[in-house]
Amino acid sequence: MTTPVGIVGATGAVGQRLVQTLAPHPDFEIAALTASSSSAGQSYREAAKWRIDSPIPDHVAAMTVSETDPAVVPDDVPLLFSSLPSGVGERVEPAFAEAGYLVSSNSSNFRTDPDVPLTIPEINPEHIDLIEVQREERGWDGAIVKNPNCSTITMVPPLAAIEEAVGIDRVDVSTLQAVSGAGYDGVTSMEIIDNAIPHIGGEEEKMETEARKLLGTFDGNSVEWLDATVAASCNRIPTLDGHLENVFVDTRADTTPEAIVEAFEAYPTVDLPSAPEQLIHVFDDPGRPQPRLDRNTEDGMAISVGGVQATAEGVQFNCLAHNTRRGAAGASVLNGELLAREGYL
Ligand code: NAP
Repeated sequence: MTTPVGIVGATGAVGQRLVQTLAPHPDFEIAALTASSSSAGQSYREAAKWRIDSPIPDHVAAMTVSETDPAVVPDDVPLLFSSLPSGVGERVEPAFAEAGYLVSSNSSNFRTDPDVPLTIPEINPEHIDLIEVQREERGWDGAIVKNPNCSTITMVPPLAAIEEAVGIDRVDVSTLQAVSGAGYDGVTSMEIIDNAIPHIGGEEEKMETEARKLLGTFDGNSVEWLDATVAASCNRIPTLDGHLENVFVDTRADTTPEAIVEAFEAYPTVDLPSAPEQLIHVFDDPGRPQPRLDRNTEDGMAISVGGVQATAEGVQFNCLAHNTRRGAAGASVLNGELLAREGYL
């Protein structure tokens, strides 16, 4: 039997990826779609300016988009995937959690709150039990679970492999991020064609904090963040999808590029429907990964890595992930699958 699920903010860039990911899902069935009041009342086909490279699933296209309000989402839809602008999520997600819904959210609000699980199922699934702390503190029947920012999720799996193998003292990362990461109204063609923008508001801080929370230790009550420095520099470039990142890691113990490649390749995946078979794919070719060639590896759910080299203090590498699949829609669907597996639905 499938579980009915809803998508709040269903008409946007991430919302459309959620529709594409959830329509054929073996365990979930799309039962509610919400957006802003300007879309409410329209069919999904009318409300969503569909820009995904596969057709709108027919049964979803005919559904009516509703207001983003717990009063109008059916009570028998226990799980909602949220892709709202963070200011809207900050206001609306607690109302849904208070009304008893489980919210698996992409929005950046609350990600570093001490009682909000920030999870990547392959990396820190045990953090999901922060839900109990959240419910206790906030008095909610529902809960809010977050996936990280798309640039953070690209580098964290390889960092987790390095942390386990030799420990991390410091991370320096520079990103080359696709335009879809800013949403449809994010950057205009006049701004980005023949150009690069060396600043993405708030993005550096997200990478610097979220990575340390994800790699932290959960003792049943709180998460102790990884004791390492993370410094990020974020750039927007004129690719459509796929964030590429150049990462330099100062390791605690001495290591070699060969040992790090071995740690990447051995890093386990997880047994959930949307998880990739191999989490980290390593290229020998120093010219890979590339956004256009490699962003769709394993349905866009794998992390591609290349250019692993020794540095004076550790290693450097390049990594790539599809920002609206692995970095957003796929990440929150994986968290939904984790919630189901752990008995929260
Ligand atoms: P987007 O394309 O701008 O879509 C925003 C969605 O929220 C639309 O469905 C919109 O509905 C709805 N919305 C806007 N204002 C609303 C309101 N006041 N009340 C109810 N619904 C409202 O944004 P996006 O790129 O999909 O990003 C969504 C969230 O995911 C953001 O928090 C973003 O930071 C995060 N995220 C994005 C990415 C990425 O790669 N794009 C990656 C990770 C995380 P209408 O169509 O009716 O306006």
